[in-house]
Amino acid sequence: MKKLIRGLDKFKQSYVATHHDLLEQLSHGQKPRVLFICCSDSRVDPTLITQTEVGELFVIRNAGNIIPPYGAANGGEGGTLEYALQALDIRQVIVCGHSHCGAMKGLLKLNKLQADMPLVYDWLKHAESTRRLVRDTYPHCEGDELVETLVAENVLVQIDNLQTYPVVRSRLHQGKLKIYGWIYNIENGEVLTYDEATHSYIKPDYQSIAESVLEDRNPIEGCPIPYTMPQTALQTSLQTSLQTSSLQDWYGETDTFSVSG
Ligand SMILES: [Zn+2]
Repeated sequence: MKKLIRGLDKFKQSYVATHHDLLEQLSHGQKPRVLFICCSDSRVDPTLITQTEVGELFVIRNAGNIIPPYGAANGGEGGTLEYALQALDIRQVIVCGHSHCGAMKGLLKLNKLQADMPLVYDWLKHAESTRRLVRDTYPHCEGDELVETLVAENVLVQIDNLQTYPVVRSRLHQGKLKIYGWIYNIENGEVLTYDEATHSYIKPDYQSIAESVLEDRNPIEGCPIPYTMPQTALQTSLQTSLQTSSLQDWYGETDTFSVSG
């Protein structure tokens, strides 16, 4: 706790002292351009890995970066999602899983969880599609590879769940929303993005994206996701950065990460 108190002081002395204008501007309202959905895991820090400033990301965090399907739970996720899209008019959503996710490991030992952590057990029911899909599709997968596969598939399952929300369906239908799947690798700080063309997670290659649109994309070795979901609106909506050339373009408008008005 002492460390946190010292941190508060340091924050005030260094950050606040040099960001008066930004903080004053933010006091009048927020205009985040991205809804970032990620795990509560302490090793995953959305503003750190995206190097964004306060006010730029609207964040939902919980164990396993899970969005319960519409009507399945009365937690905060649905309300926060609705607020992000309707009230804040956010048009980009990122679902970001991460390596070594404890929630995904929990899917592999549900019986023990039910006895020891019944609330976690209940929560992970919202990732049951992930567990079942992986069990049935990758019967020979085990160990670290199995966890990686759960992480990767769970991002896609939760993107599916997102689309059960009326506000999401409506925005997608109007072409006013894009949903992206990411995986953050704790070991090396690398982010892989879901690529519908290869049904795998790939390293975003900003230099060659514009030149090699949808072609010759090699999945990163060690994270192959033989993806079997049929072409659906999900994948249409997952039309990621492949036709763009910069990180800014990824997020739509040119002032994507500016904090204005
Ligand atoms: Zn996690």
